[in-house]
Amino acid sequence: MSRFLNRQYEKLEPYTPGEQPKTDGLIKLNTNENPYEPSPRARRVFCEEQVSKLMLYPDPEAAELVNAVADYYGLEKEQVIAGNGSDEILAFCFMAFKSPSDKVYFPEPSYGFYKVYSDVFLLKSNPIPLKEDLRIDPEKYKNLDGTIILANPNAPTGIALNLEDIEDILKTNESNLVIIDEAYVDFGAKSCVPFLRKYDNLLIVQTFSKSRSLAGARVGFAMGNKELIADLNRIKFSFNPYNLNRLSVQAAAAAIRDDEYFQKTRKKIIETRTWISAELEALGFTVLPSSANFIFVKSGSLSGKDYFTGLRERNILVRHFEKEPVSDFVRITIGKEEDMRTLLSVTKDLLTERN
Ligand code: PMP
Repeated sequence: MSRFLNRQYEKLEPYTPGEQPKTDGLIKLNTNENPYEPSPRARRVFCEEQVSKLMLYPDPEAAELVNAVADYYGLEKEQVIAGNGSDEILAFCFMAFKSPSDKVYFPEPSYGFYKVYSDVFLLKSNPIPLKEDLRIDPEKYKNLDGTIILANPNAPTGIALNLEDIEDILKTNESNLVIIDEAYVDFGAKSCVPFLRKYDNLLIVQTFSKSRSLAGARVGFAMGNKELIADLNRIKFSFNPYNLNRLSVQAAAAAIRDDEYFQKTRKKIIETRTWISAELEALGFTVLPSSANFIFVKSGSLSGKDYFTGLRERNILVRHFEKEPVSDFVRITIGKEEDMRTLLSVTKDLLTERN
């Protein structure tokens, strides 16, 4: 730490990203990327003609993408803002919005950045523990006195809330902003977008990193009423107006217009999830009911750490969190079927070695 660091950040604990291996040959099931390549329409954007325009700044409004998202969800373009991954959009939210109490409520465990951004922007984080079954307890989110942020489905559990519970949270928190992070919503949960017509305290954040196969392009977006989006634009234009590069804007716009490819890949991931969940259950695993492109599983005989390490030694990368109450679990991204078959056979070997 240098002597110049802002003293407020002396104790800041940064987010720890999942491992991004520098070598080939690993089966990568650790950061919930889509195993399928981006839509061919998105890929065509990276052509000589577009690359040759890179001496020009991108459109700071990312209008092509904002319009494509607004069309897709039946919203007005003033209800959408795009960012460099939904992480940036979340950062803008924590920068822009502050309740009188400074408090931010979110589930624990959930996406690690909620705590980190609370700390960066000097808000008071109030983690609310999950129930014993690792579900979010919606009762604990009623009539609060601060901003609420919920991932739906939650990560790392993959469990979704139902819309009635989210609506109750919106209704009983009229004076609080409720942010719903729908990073994984396309894999089986229901989106809150229809609530945007009814509730002006709702902001929805989504990403192109998961169901649209564009994690490497870094594109996310938020949807809300025009005032909320104008507030976020105020931050964006004060911080980094050119936050999205030219190619990513166009690739994401092309991806969201390619519904056929989206439906096809999404369906395959859901089918693979159903199949691998049943296979692991047959081997004695507890598999939480997932509405995401990952599963959160606990072996009947291997500790979370041992299962993670055993897979890692055999070139399969998954995610393990040391913290309680989830240290017995590992999170496995749903990959292509052949990769999940390898995972299954390695898992069988590990269980046999154990006995
Ligand atoms: N929200 C949740 C719940 C996530 O798990 C992630 C990424 N793993 C993000 C947001 C951020 O995704 P991105 O910045 O790639 O859009």
